[in-house]
Amino acid sequence: MNNPRITLLPRKEESINRFHPWIFSGAIAHIDGEVNEGDLVCVYSADGKALGQGHFAPTTIAVRILSFDTNQPIDRAFWLEKLRSAYLLRKRIGLINPTNNSYRLVHGEGDNLPGLVIDIYDRTAVLQAHTVGMHNVATLIAKLLPEVTEEHVQSVYYKSSNTLPHMADVEVQDGFILGKIAAESIAIENGLRFHPDWQKGQKTGFFLDQRDNRALLQTYAADHNVLNMFCYTGGFSLFALAGGAKSVVSVDSSAKAIDLAKRNIALNFPDDFRHKAVAEDAFRFMEEAEQGLYDLIVLDPPAFAKHRKVLRNALKGYRRLNAIAFEKIAPGGILFTFSCSQAVGRDEFRQTVFSAAALAKRRVRILHQLTQPADHPINIYHPEGEYLKGLVLAVD
Ligand code: SAH
Repeated sequence: MNNPRITLLPRKEESINRFHPWIFSGAIAHIDGEVNEGDLVCVYSADGKALGQGHFAPTTIAVRILSFDTNQPIDRAFWLEKLRSAYLLRKRIGLINPTNNSYRLVHGEGDNLPGLVIDIYDRTAVLQAHTVGMHNVATLIAKLLPEVTEEHVQSVYYKSSNTLPHMADVEVQDGFILGKIAAESIAIENGLRFHPDWQKGQKTGFFLDQRDNRALLQTYAADHNVLNMFCYTGGFSLFALAGGAKSVVSVDSSAKAIDLAKRNIALNFPDDFRHKAVAEDAFRFMEEAEQGLYDLIVLDPPAFAKHRKVLRNALKGYRRLNAIAFEKIAPGGILFTFSCSQAVGRDEFRQTVFSAAALAKRRVRILHQLTQPADHPINIYHPEGEYLKGLVLAVD
């Protein structure tokens, strides 16, 4: 291959030999040839052994490995094979059927495609590039998606204006790069319908990673008074209603999110007086809530820690939030509590929830330990890919 060559410092090849897909800038001895952000580069050990090839970025993570074979052409056939294998896995997981047509097709490193995320909502794919390398091949990948999905996907919306590195020297506009939709699309998750709003919504328009946990909540909801904090588009509320909840209150500080939640509820449960949506700060709402009013509470806040440097404050935030929930929840209540901060470890999260329970002086038992679903796979050599943690707690 004629790609620019990156040579590592002595002994810095250990992690790549163990299939970790990142090369940190501090591991690099020298770069031969001119290299621009997004270029394919080949990586060699200090003693000249070929290690792999991937996309270059002038950032802390300097190379994201696409192939551990420097001779493999990174061409149309390469992308087709990777996408096909991702699609076949989702079929095998059982996510593509008449009662479910929304799933994550590509989850970055978890699908051996670092820097790329693709979510499918019925016939529309939403594609996010997190690196300039993936940005450069976005159109090529978009064109392969109908073929990969057995002609199911017909249009591709590109949404990378917020995911590419801020310093990257590329112009990005969000919009359709393949086909478009005539009418509004309706996606289905486990039998319930929703409007994914990829244009205005956060991330790709819907949080697919809570699918299994919403299904679990449904089984706990019957005859309960549910409080869904940080509801966004109302996913947990929909499944609580489907599970026969007595009442459901959805809270989010974003008025736009509350509108989306109301639309989704109306789509599935028109004129259902059990549901109420409130645009308010979660902490304020919970502090003012009557003690004992809710016996099923969901806490699914945004990532409080985006990186380890702000970890202490983030943990304080999780502790405060959970402590208020423990204070307010009715005796015999069930709490679903989550953290989607990658920087917060599973044990750290559990420890924080433990201190919150102790602060509120409630007796608490762990019923379930939750994680991300199978269409958000974790590459075993890249533990950084594990981010979603949840606990289902019985509060006496
Ligand atoms: N549970 C949701 C996803 C939650 S995303 C689902 O299943 O789809 C996190 C949400 O928290 C976002 O919608 C964001 O608007 C909201 N949020 C952020 N800070 C908040 C705050 N202080 N109070 C209430 N909501 C907040």
